[in-house]
Amino acid sequence: MIEKYFKPNGYAKSVFDIDLNMLKKQGYNFIMCDIDNTLVAHDNKDPNELVFAFLKQCELLKFDIVFISNNNKKRVGYFGEQCKIDYYHFSTKPLKRQYKKILNKYQNDPSKVVVIGDQILTDILGGNRMKFYTILTDPLYQKDITWTKVNRIFEKIVYKKLADKKSLIKGEYYGV
Ligand SMILES: [Mg+2]
Repeated sequence: MIEKYFKPNGYAKSVFDIDLNMLKKQGYNFIMCDIDNTLVAHDNKDPNELVFAFLKQCELLKFDIVFISNNNKKRVGYFGEQCKIDYYHFSTKPLKRQYKKILNKYQNDPSKVVVIGDQILTDILGGNRMKFYTILTDPLYQKDITWTKVNRIFEKIVYKKLADKKSLIKGEYYGV
């Protein structure tokens, strides 16, 4: 039960280590990507060279990509505009509402979607509920905003349970 909801399909050290070619070959064509601590630190308002290189690679491989964040419009909107990428703020991950809205807008099929994020309780739980291909990354930086700190406490419990089952062990990357 815990694996169905909380185990990611893939686990990478960072978003920049994901093999996009492989995902494309497997038939995926759409990426919903978290921002805070996945692409940049939560308090870093600007995208950097690594982010632009990642987006360029997505473009070359003809992935559609959107940013999906629980953070506010100011942060997410500015970041999205700098990257020229469609963005969704206050996404209430892990609820399904925003994912459904995006699928609807892009007329896409859930079996072609990859979700990338650094939090099990929002990014991975939400993506698994939607039956997307979920990829967990290690958080880029340890500092989190307050509500994320609360999530991290519960996340530790989930990590422990998944580690007990040998299905997710910190630093043992797979499926990417
Ligand atoms: Mg995050």
